[in-house]
Amino acid sequence: MPAMGTESLRDLPGVDAVLRALGPDALPHAIAVEAAREALRELREELRAGGSPPALQDAVARARARANGLQRPSLRPVINATGVLLQTNLGRAPLSERALAAMQAVARGYSNLEFDLEAGTRGSRQEHLRDLLRRATGAEDGLVVNNNAAALLMVLQVLAAGREVIVSRGQAVEIGGGFRIPDVLHQSGARLVEAGTTNRTYLRDYAEAITPETAAILRVHPSNFRVVGFTAEPVIGELASLARERNVLLLDDLGSGCLVDTRAYGLAREPTVQESIGAGATLAMFSGDKLLGGPQCGIVVGIAETVERLRRHPLARALRVDRITIAALDATLRAYVEGSEACEIPVWEMLGRGLPGLKRRARRWASLAGEAGAVVRERSMVGGGSLPGEGVDTWCAAIRPPAGAGTMAMALRAGDPPVVARIEDGAVMLDPRTVAPADDRRVAAAIKAALVQASPAP
Ligand SMILES: *Cc1c(COP(=O)(O)O)cnc(C)c1O
Repeated sequence: MPAMGTESLRDLPGVDAVLRALGPDALPHAIAVEAAREALRELREELRAGGSPPALQDAVARARARANGLQRPSLRPVINATGVLLQTNLGRAPLSERALAAMQAVARGYSNLEFDLEAGTRGSRQEHLRDLLRRATGAEDGLVVNNNAAALLMVLQVLAAGREVIVSRGQAVEIGGGFRIPDVLHQSGARLVEAGTTNRTYLRDYAEAITPETAAILRVHPSNFRVVGFTAEPVIGELASLARERNVLLLDDLGSGCLVDTRAYGLAREPTVQESIGAGATLAMFSGDKLLGGPQCGIVVGIAETVERLRRHPLARALRVDRITIAALDATLRAYVEGSEACEIPVWEMLGRGLPGLKRRARRWASLAGEAGAVVRERSMVGGGSLPGEGVDTWCAAIRPPAGAGTMAMALRAGDPPVVARIEDGAVMLDPRTVAPADDRRVAAAIKAALVQASPAP
C-alpha cells in the first residue's frame, strides 16, 4: 500500500465546505451534517487505500446521495408486477379505499376505542367488531388478535394447555417463515397427538386417537402445499360430529379466511369461514390480510362461550390489536356484509380483471422494449398461503433485454418506486393484474429507465 502523506488528506474538503455547497435549506441540518460527515469519512478511507483526492463536487454529490438514503424510510411502497396477489414479502393484501379512510379517521385523533359513549364509562375494544364478524361469518361471536399465528397459539394455550390435541399427520406442517404446527403446539403447552398418515387420514383415525386427555381436534388447512393422488381427509362436518359426540373441541385453522366462493373467479374451491362455522367447528381461525383482503390480524370466530373464555384470558390483552387495525377490519368486513367486495376489496377486484384489459396494458409495456418485448399468456398466482398452486389466466409483458433479465430486474427494483417483477426463462415478466392502473405510467417509466441501464455498455 502506498504511504499516505498528510498532504492529500488535507486535500479533502471540510465538512463546512460540503455543507455550504449542499445549501442551507435543502435538507434538515442534522441530516446534512450526518450525510457530509459520512461522505467525507468514506472519501478519506478511499484516499488512504490509494485513491486520488476528490473534488468538492464529488464530495457534495456523495453527501447528497447519503442524505437521500438517510431521509428515505426503510419501509416504502413498491409496485408489485409479479402477478402474485398475496405475498408476505410484499405486505400481503392491499387495502380498500374505505379501509384507508377509516384508518385515517381514527388515527388522526381520539376515538371511542374503549369508551362507551352512551354510558360514559369504559368500553371494550373488541365490541366494535363483534357484530360485523357475526354477520360476515354466521358465527355466534368473534375476537381479533395480532395475526393468525397469535390466534392459533392463544387458542391452543387457553383451551388445550396440558392436554392433548389431535392433528392429522398430513397437517402437522410448516406454514412458512419457520411457523410449524408441532412447534406452536409445543409452545402452547398442549401435547400433539398425530393421527393417520401423511396422505390418508380417516375419521376412524381421529376417533381412535381420542382419549380422556384429549382437549381438541385441530384441523389445519394446507395453505401452501397440496397433497395430490391417493389422499383422504374427513370433511369438516364429519369431524364436527365426532368432536360433539366425544365432547372435544374442533378447532379449524383456515389460514386465508375466505368468505366468498372462489370458483366464481375461476379458482379452485377454497373452504370458507361460513362453511366451517355452519358445519359445527367450535372455532375457526384465519388471517385478516390474506384472501379476506384486510389488515394484518388474526380472527377467531365460533361458539360464544368459547370465544368469551379467550376474551377473558390475559393473552387477549397481550395480543390485542390497535384502533387502526380495528378501523380497517371494520371497513373490510362491511364490504362483504354489503355484498360489494368484488369491486371494493382490491384482492377480488384484481382477481376479477378481464383478459382484454390486461392484454392492452401488457402490450403497452412490452412495446417499450421494441424487439425485446412480447405479450405472453401467463398465470397470476394467489400466493400468500392461499389456494396453493392456484392461479388465473393473465397477460404479461415479457422483456428479454440484451444485458440479461437479472440486470433489468435489479434496475427495476432500484427505481423509485421500486418495481418488482418475476424472471422466467431469461425474460422479465410484468403482470398488470397486480398493478393498480393508476401506476401504469410509473411502470412504463421504470421500464424505460431500466432498459437504458440494462443495455450493454458500448
Ligand atoms: C398463513 C397461515 C397462518 C399464519 O397466519 P398469519 O396471519 O401469517 O400469522 C396460520 N395457519 C395457516 C393455515 C395459514 O395459512
